[in-house]
Amino acid sequence: MNNNPYAWIEASLETIHRADWYRSVQTINSLPGATVLLSGQKVINFASNDYLGLAGDERLQTAAIKAIQQFGTGSTGSRLLSGHRELHRELEQAIASTKQTEDAVVFSSGYLANIGVITALIGKRDLILSDQYNHSSLKRGAVLSGAAVIEYPHNSTAVLAEKLSQQRQNHRRCLIMTDSVFSMDGDLCPLPELLDLAEEFSCMLLLDEAHATGVMGKTGAGCVEHFGCTGRELIQIGTLSKALGSLGGYVAASHTLIDFLRNRAPSWIYTTALSPADTAAALAAMKIVQQEPERRQRLWDNVNYLKQLIRDNLPNLKILPSESPILCFQLPDAATALTAGKHLKEVGIFAPAIRPPTVPTSRIRITMMATHELEHIEKLVNTLKGMQL
Ligand SMILES: *Cc1c(COP(=O)(O)O)cnc(C)c1O
Repeated sequence: MNNNPYAWIEASLETIHRADWYRSVQTINSLPGATVLLSGQKVINFASNDYLGLAGDERLQTAAIKAIQQFGTGSTGSRLLSGHRELHRELEQAIASTKQTEDAVVFSSGYLANIGVITALIGKRDLILSDQYNHSSLKRGAVLSGAAVIEYPHNSTAVLAEKLSQQRQNHRRCLIMTDSVFSMDGDLCPLPELLDLAEEFSCMLLLDEAHATGVMGKTGAGCVEHFGCTGRELIQIGTLSKALGSLGGYVAASHTLIDFLRNRAPSWIYTTALSPADTAAALAAMKIVQQEPERRQRLWDNVNYLKQLIRDNLPNLKILPSESPILCFQLPDAATALTAGKHLKEVGIFAPAIRPPTVPTSRIRITMMATHELEHIEKLVNTLKGMQL
């Protein structure tokens, strides 16, 4: 008998290798942007969540530096003890104003926001209905809550309605939860139908706008705005780390719900407040999102240009349905996706292979940025054409 209680880890890693599921980090040695230095090699960057190109923006840098000089690097405690600064409140008010909700609260990451909200609102006597393709943070939050969890097939409001009519009456509270832009596919949830079902069956609805904030909707408020659902009662979650170019997460909802979270969300109460630099950078980004709609327009022009080039040049490429700046090319297996990703990198294109267990089927995932130039997009399409995928 092998007595080493850690021996299983090496065996497990070997299995991961054999399945072509092994992952490791890659180093970027430059400012973030449409092109970056990846392990010293200049590449066109189709792998970033920095949709509006703000993570390297000088105005965000200046705001962060100023905040550090004024308030230091660490916030020194949780929000309820010594960590709260006026900057946090300004950021929360800017978020609530963009989302047109009564209030908002910022967390140290989007992941912590999801875990905090779900575990504060839902317990053992309750029911969670969760889209099969939801982000890991929603799924983990559901498990942590101790509630009964039912996953419904991706975007299937028919199955969701069926489960609700069968199960809703057996539980105290019910939470329906979904990504608004699905992060590994790029399609959108059917928000108006979900809101109607939530109303009909007396359920709360949690919408994760991580990839939608700053991107979707006329003013960049997200999919709620995109679908014309502004003002309807729901819980909006998002991140400060994607289009807003900083770090942190938020919840936007009614005054009562936010007040409750400040008293009951463990991942807000028992963790250190967002740093002054991250807070100030996100606040600067919120202002830019409002004041420079042309950035969002450039992002969508780029998305449409790529889609048009693909239609004209790559009729056989299997593209997953997308209504966002996330575009995925489906590939038969993990090994093919890895080879394709490697080849793209060799010619100077950074577009990662996404494989199980992150997603059910292997793919190359492209994210567009407002700051991509036409020639970046043309090089991508010409390279894919040469690869005969
Ligand atoms: C990225 C992401 C998160 C997590 O946000 P972080 O701020 O990076 O922790 C949550 N939900 C979705 C859908 C995401 O894509």
